Amino acid sequence: MIPLAEPNLCGNELKYLTECVHSNYVSSVGRFVDQFEAMVAAYSGAQFAVATSAGTTGLHVALTALGVGPGDLVILPSFTFIASANAIAHCGALPWLFDVDPRTWTLDCDLVESALCDQTISQAGKVIHQRSGLRVAAIMPVYTLGLPANMDKLVALAQRYHLPIVADAAAALGAEVGNRKIAQLGADATVFSFNGNKTITAGGGGAVVSNNKDLIQLIRHLTTTARVGRDYDHDRVGFNYRMTNLQAAVGCAQMENADVFVQAKRRIAMTYRQALAGVTGVEPFPEPEPLKSACWFSGFRLHMEHGNAGSLIDYLAAASIGARRFWKPIHLQTPYRHCPQTAMLVSEKLWPEIVTLPSSTHLTVQDQDVVIKTTLAGLKLQQAAL
Ligand SMILES: *Cc1c(COP(=O)(O)O)cnc(C)c1O
Repeated sequence: MIPLAEPNLCGNELKYLTECVHSNYVSSVGRFVDQFEAMVAAYSGAQFAVATSAGTTGLHVALTALGVGPGDLVILPSFTFIASANAIAHCGALPWLFDVDPRTWTLDCDLVESALCDQTISQAGKVIHQRSGLRVAAIMPVYTLGLPANMDKLVALAQRYHLPIVADAAAALGAEVGNRKIAQLGADATVFSFNGNKTITAGGGGAVVSNNKDLIQLIRHLTTTARVGRDYDHDRVGFNYRMTNLQAAVGCAQMENADVFVQAKRRIAMTYRQALAGVTGVEPFPEPEPLKSACWFSGFRLHMEHGNAGSLIDYLAAASIGARRFWKPIHLQTPYRHCPQTAMLVSEKLWPEIVTLPSSTHLTVQDQDVVIKTTLAGLKLQQAAL
């Protein structure tokens, strides 16, 4: 079996874990947590970081710290992983769902601009969504597959409407725009995931990065039960969302290899892109200049006029190749069907056409070759039958 994406624990993971056990520091105090935060901040180009128990909890606490609460709306692309919407719902808020840009598969900022202009009014300094009467409290762009959203446009829009931006950069550590790193694109907070299927893992975990010191202090406070002082004094409803030293030990070992892993992901993506170029109906994952994707997953879009992504995935599975579909949009998910939303022409056509291919950072050249040959054979069979 050639798996879709497996963790690559080739560095100091075991050594650092052993150190945790020997030192008895296994919980959320310990040198690896501090070190991990410093490494993630530096690598993403931010001044500060708070390590969290997951990407989802990082998103939840960042939204909370920026004032999102019950009865609010948060602007979100529908084409994302369910966790982005869940983090909003955990605040007691609802996502306001938008279609994505067909060129990047990220939030369509023109749609956001026209919706803010046509469907909201300003009331006592608040942006009110007219039809529901709910306050629009934040914007959450998602860096789809590791590709940053159109942040220059979105930041200008957010400033105009005084809305904070929490970027769901869960799988985008290592992405860049020109010479700007991923945390330098203007979001108030940028959130990463270190789940097992991400390029860099801590077994599970997340991080919120920002240049806003007060915001980071508040987030750190909220993740540790909002405790004041040494005794059991708490000044807010807080969370138990801190990363443990055990997770951070694995995370630090992984971060030492961050460049190697991101380069491997990019090389794998480039190899698939070149091998499948010119096959009718096959479109590579988007990466328009000057955006540089972190290439979390590799694969392609198979336009349904020229083939069937689902049958191709079955064909690959029969050959022991772990290919998979990608995100089913949020507006089609039971808990979020009722949310305010735009027309979803792009998302609805796009998601059933995506095929993700094996892209572990330690995928061998031989294995990738097998995947390519099998994929080409499967496509040829399908196209002969059309
Ligand atoms: C992985 C992922 C998350 C969730 O992160 P967890 O660490 O699993 O909670 C959120 N959003 C996106 C886009 C993701 O890919």
